[in-house]
Amino acid sequence: MYTSGAWGFVYALDAKTGKEIWRYDPNVDASYGRRACCDVVNRGVAVWKGKVYVGTLDGYMVCLNAADGKELWRKDSFTDRTKAYTITSAPQVAGNIVMIGNSGGEYGVRGYITAYDLNSGEQKWRFFIVPGDPKFPYEHEEMKMAAKTWDPNSDWNTGGGGTVWGAAAYDPELNLLYVGTGNSTPYPIWYRSPSGGDNLFLSSILAINPDNGKLKWHYQTTPGELWDYTATMNNILADLEIDGKKRKVIMQAPKNGFYYVLERETGELISAEKYTRVNWASHVDLKTGRPVLTENGGWYKDEPKLVIPYLGGGHNWPPMSYNPVTGLVYIPERTIPQVYKSYDNYKWKPDEDNTALDYANSSNWSLVKDQIKSPQDTMMTESLLAWDPVKQKAARKIEGGAPDGGTLSTPELVFQGTRTGYLRVHDAKTGKLLKEIFTGTGIMASPNTYKIDGVQYVAVMAAFGGAPTCCYYGDAVFHEYENKGRLLVFKLGGSATPLPAKRNIPPIPAPPTMELDTAKVARGKQLYYQYCETCHGVGGDGTNTLHPDLLRLPEAKHKLFKEIVLGGLLAKYGMASFGNSLKEKDVEAVQEYLVSQQKKAYLQSR
Ligand code: CA
Repeated sequence: MYTSGAWGFVYALDAKTGKEIWRYDPNVDASYGRRACCDVVNRGVAVWKGKVYVGTLDGYMVCLNAADGKELWRKDSFTDRTKAYTITSAPQVAGNIVMIGNSGGEYGVRGYITAYDLNSGEQKWRFFIVPGDPKFPYEHEEMKMAAKTWDPNSDWNTGGGGTVWGAAAYDPELNLLYVGTGNSTPYPIWYRSPSGGDNLFLSSILAINPDNGKLKWHYQTTPGELWDYTATMNNILADLEIDGKKRKVIMQAPKNGFYYVLERETGELISAEKYTRVNWASHVDLKTGRPVLTENGGWYKDEPKLVIPYLGGGHNWPPMSYNPVTGLVYIPERTIPQVYKSYDNYKWKPDEDNTALDYANSSNWSLVKDQIKSPQDTMMTESLLAWDPVKQKAARKIEGGAPDGGTLSTPELVFQGTRTGYLRVHDAKTGKLLKEIFTGTGIMASPNTYKIDGVQYVAVMAAFGGAPTCCYYGDAVFHEYENKGRLLVFKLGGSATPLPAKRNIPPIPAPPTMELDTAKVARGKQLYYQYCETCHGVGGDGTNTLHPDLLRLPEAKHKLFKEIVLGGLLAKYGMASFGNSLKEKDVEAVQEYLVSQQKKAYLQSR
């Protein structure tokens, strides 16, 4: 069994015993961690005829010998190393090529995919998702079409986004490669393409001929994208009977809350319905294929808007799965509202969040009180949703129990992990919970199953990645148990699951003595939310994150604060220098804010 881990490590294991055969270390410079919006994750490898392919966080497409893990070839897939590109997705084999995308949509990059010859690694083609500066020639003809949907005076330096970081798909019969594309940077279209426009090919599903990299068809789920509504969620290819006709379909439940069924040879939109609570659009017009916007779906330029789903979507990357026996798709669904409010001024900055979104007010309902029509509008719910893609409606909804991991369908069962540390097994027809196993480790990935010598195994990658703090629910099991990544494999009659060690959270130390200036603390807070909160947590409290807890910084580290933040003293441990974004006085302000927070927490804890 081949699997990847953080940074792009690859592990080859005996699938029967779990014994490690070899491991591959991609030797990524740890400072790349700063460029990864949602931790240094990797979503898997591709395996083909004795070869294993992986994309490394720092942008290399690598081909390994499956037998011993030796590098056969390694190609630099980045076009511009001054921009904050990373790779977090799995490669996709399609025909004679292996394709890799990239990540960094929040950081101001221009998305594209690159195809390499499976054997030699020779670059076969590259397909850009959004156009570049019109002063330069179009890289391929599709960019001419896309450019018509952008303001010619767009802020080309911000890259435009559209990164391909999710799961692709391939139909060998039609010889079509399907990719989903990401959101823009910055989110507010008035900063990137001032007169608006659809901004192709953001938030789209693309069908590409893998032999030559030419676009066969495209479907844009969210024209003029404003909300981080990526369409990079997993694509399912299935044959469905719709209105008495057999249709070859591709299905996706992107972040924007609509479940799409498209004819996969032509891209014709067959149907699109809300699989979760959605308030930015009333419906998708099947004639035009476009969503019909509501008031909430307007530009949040002059007034903040209450929008459902939030930027993490009604469904994110944890894969949904299709069961042809029940005819249902099992989706880890959630409804989360958000206040969208932009910064007044936006200018592209290197290596940092370029979304121009005011995260500190994401849940500030007082800003949108006129838009709150019912208590539900500010509530969060989540479910394991059994969706009928033909009828385009829920067959069943199982709420509660943190059903947020990816799903696996077998003819009779649905497997799903939870952030609360359970692996659950449901009856696929009735949804009844048949079994749950406590593992002590949060599970986001979807399980896998295979049979060796007549024994059926279920394997799942367990542990919680350091995604932004919005995802750190209080019930996540890593608050209680250590969060070390591990692969758990189950079989009938197997032994008890060994639990990880319990976490030991030290008390808050006395804060360093420091004169605090109220204005400086306030400025520090603003900077903290802009630069630090994603990794280090709300208000500096890192107990809920996987990164160092800044309320528990020892005095010695406080003394080295500038050397760490500006000088990159701890860069090799993943704390890169912020010297290209912050000035000395900014760092002083952040430190004062943290000390003020530590002071409060220290007094409370006594
Ligand atoms: Ca995004």
